[in-house]
Amino acid sequence: MSEVFIYGAGLAGMVAAINLARQGFKITIYDREESIGGAKNLHPSIHTTPLQPKETWDYIGIDLSESFYPTDTYPSFWYNAKRMTLPPYVNNTVAYNVERGPRNSSIDVKLYEIALNEGVKFSFNKNLTPDELKSAPPGSIIATGLYKEVYDLVGVRYSSTYGYLASIPWEQGEVNGAIHMGRFSVDYGYTAALNGLMFVLLFSRTPLEDRDLGKFKKILKDARGLEFPNWHTFNGHFPRETRLSWEDKILAGTLSGMIEPFWGYGIVGALISGKVASLVHTDRKKAEEDFFKFTAGFQRKLARKEKMDNMPLNKQLLRLGILKARFDCWKNPELKKAIKEPVRWFK
Ligand SMILES: Cc1cc2nc3c(=O)[nH]c(=O)nc-3n(C[C@H](O)[C@H](O)[C@H](O)COP(=O)(O)OP(=O)(O)OC[C@H]3O[C@@H](n4cnc5c(N)ncnc54)[C@H](O)[C@@H]3O)c2cc1C
Repeated sequence: MSEVFIYGAGLAGMVAAINLARQGFKITIYDREESIGGAKNLHPSIHTTPLQPKETWDYIGIDLSESFYPTDTYPSFWYNAKRMTLPPYVNNTVAYNVERGPRNSSIDVKLYEIALNEGVKFSFNKNLTPDELKSAPPGSIIATGLYKEVYDLVGVRYSSTYGYLASIPWEQGEVNGAIHMGRFSVDYGYTAALNGLMFVLLFSRTPLEDRDLGKFKKILKDARGLEFPNWHTFNGHFPRETRLSWEDKILAGTLSGMIEPFWGYGIVGALISGKVASLVHTDRKKAEEDFFKFTAGFQRKLARKEKMDNMPLNKQLLRLGILKARFDCWKNPELKKAIKEPVRWFK
């Protein structure tokens, strides 16, 4: 029986493990945390994503419909303290919330249980070090998410994001979401409720200061009556290239660049990427074709970004672009023309 080592017991790592175990591979997953559910300072958290359920479950070979809950309404959209009317494509799209982390209601625990049933072995408190990476057998899968150390180890270029996150107990049956844009971030903040938890993340590609968080808190309180007492800082890293392999190892999840290019949603891409990584062992040609197909949108976005970064005065242009986007959001009817529909993973 062939043996495969996987580093990272997150979404991509566990989907790869389940698929390979079902085909007779002996699988061990290593994770640096002491138990399932990822980093304790990030989770439990609630994530929002568009989803094509049937196509996704068919592709990854695992039905995760019990973990994804359609939101009552599509995330409401706020610009500073003003609620915006959404363009038609958004109103016609269903968004889903999913819980991450160590609680029994999370997708992590769901995948963990499926993996255990398929005979996958887990080894916690095991950090992927440079020596470990060198000695890992060919075909090992690296699926360690958005952490800087492993990007550096495998030489994947990345950019950093900054932010703050918090959560409070919430009404058990409520499933909702909201996106906040405004003067507190060049990107956005979001809130999402599920499984008795209301989660909030303020995030930005440029470093944030306490006063940005202060502005965001004030909007949440004044516009929506929401107060979160305990905020933690968030620092993540996202790839600036897409790669299925490094030397004789396989890359998966965020590290491989399997990210929805429009808003940067990562959940579904990570699940799909786990399946692609497993295919490298069983049908390499299909794995490469699928990887190319699923990352094409992100590759195009990265190529545009690269061009912009190399332009003189790029910072000023970027600022102008952001101001223009904000103006378009503010002048609501224009939003219809300015925003294109987010990429669907499956046609
Ligand atoms: C706070 C937050 C909010 C988010 N919100 C959304 C959202 O609303 N919608 C959305 O679609 N996406 C969202 N994302 C992104 C989404 O969670 C990720 O894209 C997805 O989890 C990526 O899956 P992955 O398998 O690549 O990594 P993960 O699921 O993060 O798993 C990585 C695993 O690797 C382990 N690990 C890390 N480093 C090492 C190491 N050196 N050695 C061994 N193990 C290691 C970690 O402990 C973890 O268990 C959010 C992410 C965060 C952090």
